[in-house]
Amino acid sequence: MTLSRRQFIKLSVSTITVLSTGLPFEAEKARAIGYNLKLRNATEYPSICHFCSGGCGIILHVRDEKLINLEGDPDHPTNKGSLCPKGAALGQVRENPNRILNPLYRPPGGKEWQPISWEAAIEKIANKIKTVRDTTWMNEVSRTDSLGLLGSAELDNEECYIMTKFIRLMGSNYNEHQARV
Ligand code: SF4
Repeated sequence: MTLSRRQFIKLSVSTITVLSTGLPFEAEKARAIGYNLKLRNATEYPSICHFCSGGCGIILHVRDEKLINLEGDPDHPTNKGSLCPKGAALGQVRENPNRILNPLYRPPGGKEWQPISWEAAIEKIANKIKTVRDTTWMNEVSRTDSLGLLGSAELDNEECYIMTKFIRLMGSNYNEHQARV
């Protein structure tokens, strides 16, 4: 919309007049309307922040498969709506052009990382684990000292359970956690 100079002055004067008549400016109401407009047609998902073991509740709003808003869940007993800076910045993990989505492989002597399929990456890792286990197995004590597992603060209880079972099954006692290093 284009306004002539005269129309602009008229509009400004009438706006000032309305504001100066003491009509209450309902900031909360305006904020709520803005909030609803921002989230229009978005689907709401309750979730948990995965950055640390605090397990703060978050609410995600997704529109057209894009995360458009993220905030602390006011009904969650742990954080009651608040988030620390890591949790508040969680959206950058989801919507980040630098995020690596596929495995990369650098062959022996190679200088460049090459993209490979998940199947090829899993097979390579499985073969390496088997070779190390077979060549270092100690029959007298039924274990190997050459395999270890380094967990992460990003793992949940179920993932930790599976990884602990896995490394025990491989015959190693070396199960560590990145947060203690
Ligand atoms: S918001 Fe912060 S304190 Fe809460 S779980 Fe995430 S990283 Fe931990």
